Amino acid sequence: MVKHIKPGKTIGVLGGGQLGRMMSMAAKQMGYQVAVMDPTSNSPTGQVADYEITASYDDPEGAKQLLEASDVITYEFESIDLGVCEHLEENGYVPQGSDLIRISQDRAFEKEAITTSGGQVVPYHLVDHLEDLNEAVSVLGFPCVLKTRRGGYDGKGQYIIKNEETLVEAAELLEKGPCIVEKFLPFEKELSVMVIRSVKGETITFPVSENIHEDHILLQSIVPARITAEVEEKAKHTALQLAESINMIGTLGVEMFLTGDGEVFINEVAPRPHNSGHYTMDACNTSQFEQHIRAITGMALTEPKLHQPVVMMNVLGEHLSDVVQIIPNISNAKIHLYGKADVKPKRKMGHVNFIGDHTKELLQQIRDLGIWRH
Ligand code: AMP
Repeated sequence: MVKHIKPGKTIGVLGGGQLGRMMSMAAKQMGYQVAVMDPTSNSPTGQVADYEITASYDDPEGAKQLLEASDVITYEFESIDLGVCEHLEENGYVPQGSDLIRISQDRAFEKEAITTSGGQVVPYHLVDHLEDLNEAVSVLGFPCVLKTRRGGYDGKGQYIIKNEETLVEAAELLEKGPCIVEKFLPFEKELSVMVIRSVKGETITFPVSENIHEDHILLQSIVPARITAEVEEKAKHTALQLAESINMIGTLGVEMFLTGDGEVFINEVAPRPHNSGHYTMDACNTSQFEQHIRAITGMALTEPKLHQPVVMMNVLGEHLSDVVQIIPNISNAKIHLYGKADVKPKRKMGHVNFIGDHTKELLQQIRDLGIWRH
């Protein structure tokens, strides 16, 4: 049943990080109230929400309060407690559903869903024991990548197996739980597509983003991606096909590898707005956060348009002091900080969108600033 949650009603957000904060800011602009549940008080989302529930993600009392406060509930990250999410779905209105969480919490379910949708994944094997690993590696060959099925992000819980010696070290990861091992793909580029699908089944895709990682953490997104129109279409089509196939509602961030011969493989999906979609906040007619709120509240979606080329740079703890000094003096740079009190190296503190007419000039401008040395 399609429900219309009108502006003025309350949106409950499970998780209080930066994605919840930017969702909430979009929702508040449209006149919604926001309730957030997070284990820490004054979280990035808590700072902008109307109601803050301080409770761990698996706390039934917290979940009860969130249900009471909210007309619709959304989540801003996938590591929430599946049981609590199912409970909220049964007793409240969670249009994204808990199945999306189940899929994205486990790389094996994720790969199955991608394959069923017609998308390509890098060849992989499920491995539970050292014997499975040895057998899989003898089929896949070196190098390959061992990843925990659950709980890995930003390169945590994964290991590149280059040869027999590193195989022994990698096997320690198996102690953390079931894993997958996949072929190491010498990709040309990493791309991502944000797909939004509303409760009415309407879909939109944002322009493809080209992503550069450093130490497995996203550093830079370049839009338009430096790819052919054909690859742009293929990437969007692949992402859309997956969203339809799993009957997804809300936002899906689809991360992909592009190979030298133009093949697109899906690496990972996120059932929420994604770091590589932050460029939409300043370079498009609408943002991923606005469209997410429109999708879950039953509003009509807006067809995204890119106004100008953009390069998004993540602000990690080590960049913060330079960013705060330098960026306010730059007219084409839009600063977004997440209100995190604890500054740590590698911690995502914010991002900056550089907007201009030419990607090459933007990249040169960023290099000249010397803030992001890579
Ligand atoms: P993931 O946690 O799966 O998103 O992986 C983090 C990063 O590791 C990716 O963004 C890639 O840069 C790299 N990576 C992961 N899997 C592979 C693979 N099969 N082949 C090559 N690089 C990979």
